[in-house]
Amino acid sequence: MIERSLVIIKPDGVERGLVGEIIKRFENVGLKIVGIKMMWIDKRFAEQHYSAHKTKPFFKELVGFITEGPVVAFVVEGVHAVDNVRRLVGHTSPHEAAPGTIRGDFAHISMAYASKKGLGGKNVIHASGSKKEAEEEIKLWFKKDEMHSYTTVHEKHVF
Ligand code: UDP
Ligand code: MG
Repeated sequence: MIERSLVIIKPDGVERGLVGEIIKRFENVGLKIVGIKMMWIDKRFAEQHYSAHKTKPFFKELVGFITEGPVVAFVVEGVHAVDNVRRLVGHTSPHEAAPGTIRGDFAHISMAYASKKGLGGKNVIHASGSKKEAEEEIKLWFKKDEMHSYTTVHEKHVF
């Protein structure tokens, strides 16, 4: 039941100074950060990360958006981490994301608005959508020696 999930604070989140606020959300619930770095990915890497969306009408705009500035990527570990991270992140469209979720608290646009503007949907954060996606994404973004095993107090009081 202990899983790992990939989280990326997208360029809009980094440029808006939300890195600390966002990381705090995951630490607050006792999820463990086991790897973290800032990267400015190129088009090719972005196309690989979002390869499942390559036939979607928003693909080009999405690749443009995720490469427009540096991102902060991290791997969190915990019980049902993939589902738990998605719950904290909220609905893909900030317009539908509940208050209390990261997308619901820090954004409000709809994907319809983004597509009308010809832009990628700025929704602050990425999180793996399934266990399989998490495994593939962690392999793409992190080398083995960039991840660390250690014990947190949460393992005594939260897990
Ligand atoms: N996206 C977009 N237009 C859409 C749907 C998605 O620009 O109509 C962007 C948005 O930034 C989203 C990303 O594409 O986060 C990946 O889409 P996905 O459906 O995988 O949503 P997520 O897993 O990020 O919630
Ligand atoms: Mg997704």
